[in-house]
Amino acid sequence: MEHGNKPDEKGFYGQFGGAYVPEILYKCVTDLQQAYLPIIESKEFQDEYRALLRDYVGRPSPLYHARRLSKKYGCTIYLKREDLNHTGAHKINNTIGQILMAQKMGKTRIIAETGAGQHGVATATVCALMGMDCEIFMGKTDVERQHTNVERMKMLGAKVHPVTTGNMTLSDACSEAIRDWCCHPQDTFYIVGSTMGPHPYPDIVARMQSVISEELKWQLEEKTGRDYPDWLVACVGGGSNAAGTIYHYIDDNRVKICLAEAGGHGIDTNYTAATMHCGTEGIIHGARTLVMQTDDGQIKEAFTISAGLDYPGIGPMHADLASCGRTQVLAINDDEAIRAGYELTRMEGIIPAIESAHAVAALSKLEFKPTDVVVLTVSGRGDKDVETYLANKDMAGEYGMF
Ligand SMILES: *Cc1c(COP(=O)(O)O)cnc(C)c1O
Repeated sequence: MEHGNKPDEKGFYGQFGGAYVPEILYKCVTDLQQAYLPIIESKEFQDEYRALLRDYVGRPSPLYHARRLSKKYGCTIYLKREDLNHTGAHKINNTIGQILMAQKMGKTRIIAETGAGQHGVATATVCALMGMDCEIFMGKTDVERQHTNVERMKMLGAKVHPVTTGNMTLSDACSEAIRDWCCHPQDTFYIVGSTMGPHPYPDIVARMQSVISEELKWQLEEKTGRDYPDWLVACVGGGSNAAGTIYHYIDDNRVKICLAEAGGHGIDTNYTAATMHCGTEGIIHGARTLVMQTDDGQIKEAFTISAGLDYPGIGPMHADLASCGRTQVLAINDDEAIRAGYELTRMEGIIPAIESAHAVAALSKLEFKPTDVVVLTVSGRGDKDVETYLANKDMAGEYGMF
């Protein structure tokens, strides 16, 4: 069986993926399955998408040689700076592409789910840009703890619906967005925020984010004389920034891949979001994948200090790549992520999103050769997390003494 960056025609990556949707969405999903590749591959789409990535998002994002970090870890470390994109994370690469797709399919109303609010902001942003109606579903708990992102969405003209079912977090927001889609299948386009959901969403999102590794190829060639690194390191929630980072290197066995998922309080506790360590096969939000669930199949609440990694599932591409051993997956606990966030801040002057700090924490768990070239994706900036960093400086080790 092939384990690559693309699913088969039914949307399966190995045994994971597919499209498990209610009857009423069947037509919507099959329409999208038939439309997405011709749209993405059209010259018209590519011209518009590329122009917006360049002039609106600010791409290419820099590949930055982190000299002090390199010295500390005894190798050459480059940071892929997705934190410098417009709206402060990689999410906009995807929302720009999906809104163009929605327009080409004649849809007039956009819905999206959001956890920390980053995908909500990225969606509200492109809706403002295109003058389209935007409704965002967000767990009530997240509405309260991510207040500034809620204000940003409102300022951008989006309607934010606080979701009061279940634990009132990301997973419930996804369910509510799917429910809304069932009620408005004709005019509504659902912009999914990560490499999750029913086929074709994982493939759409991975293709939109694959611009990250497309740029890495020429940036590495320019900086190191070869177009591949020895290591790629990224954090995973649903898996989109990681999918983009590894997309063009999955078949290249010279490249080792390390993904950092959120361990929360630890994988041997009930307070974790480490789906690839603790999950078992099941169905969540339209896809067969690894899911954190009870013995009788109830989805468990995910727990992590990082709202953007707070998801009890994982994209099917990553479930497959981890299961076949192509990727090495590390669970990074809250305290390790906080410490690593401070480390990058103090050593390179870059405050990373707490999600991205999970990737930084992986560096101290890997063994590098002095000649190794390591690329670490900084998925987002940490402005939204400054309060959390300061409230937890007791976890920052030697960096917490101030
Ligand atoms: C949403 C988010 C993530 C997690 O999502 P993926 O789809 O796994 O990339 C990671 N980092 C930041 C900054 C985010 O906003």
